[in-house]
Amino acid sequence: MANCYRCGRHLPEVSLRRRRKVKTGFWVRTRYDTGKTASVNVHYGMRIVCPVCARQMDLESAKRLAMERLGVLAALAALMAALALLKSGQRAKKSRKSFGFWAKALYSV
Ligand SMILES: [Zn+2]
Repeated sequence: MANCYRCGRHLPEVSLRRRRKVKTGFWVRTRYDTGKTASVNVHYGMRIVCPVCARQMDLESAKRLAMERLGVLAALAALMAALALLKSGQRAKKSRKSFGFWAKALYSV
């Protein structure tokens, strides 16, 4: 006698049961003096879910993973752009220095 942990659907056949990591509970710790939230602990556990919920959960986790990877790629692109700007700034500084050298050499003659 198993039910889907997420939607509660009855799952009489073992072949319909899937196991996924689901949020099983949480507790919030608040500061006594201010009443503000100090920390939130979220608990996860492996539970039986139906194939429909399992598919939804897989899609959600794949979407979350894709967004995380996109964030990492965006951070890397920003870092590369910053490095390229720094490098071009150094190159411009060097060219200004060499221009000064040649200008001095020409004006001293
Ligand atoms: Zn379900």
